[in-house]
Amino acid sequence: MKKEMTCISCPVGCRLTAYEKDGKIIIEGNACKRGEVYGISEITNPSRMVCSTVKIQGAFLPSLPVKTDEPVPKEKIFEVMEEINKITVQAPVHTGQILIPHVAGTKSNIVATREM
Ligand code: SF4
Repeated sequence: MKKEMTCISCPVGCRLTAYEKDGKIIIEGNACKRGEVYGISEITNPSRMVCSTVKIQGAFLPSLPVKTDEPVPKEKIFEVMEEINKITVQAPVHTGQILIPHVAGTKSNIVATREM
């Protein structure tokens, strides 16, 4: 069976087709190697970076932008968002500071994306 998807590794957004042939995953439509890597990972272990905000106290704004420092499995995104929504951090916070290590039991950490 063929699966269609859009490569999100760069802004070009190549339309990919993935299918299995002789026990191997074949990716077509990719303009570069990164598209093949993305397509195979999307079939075998779909994952996403998560960007959001957390509540912060003692800063000039009420929320701090955060992200995962590695993609998390798609099925964990809801759990990751629940953990992000639970915490309140205290200023000062530095860019890249780990706020939630191994979020939702994954290899990824939630890190701050700006100073505040
Ligand atoms: S296949 Fe390559 S060029 Fe096409 S969207 Fe993916 S990264 Fe960009």
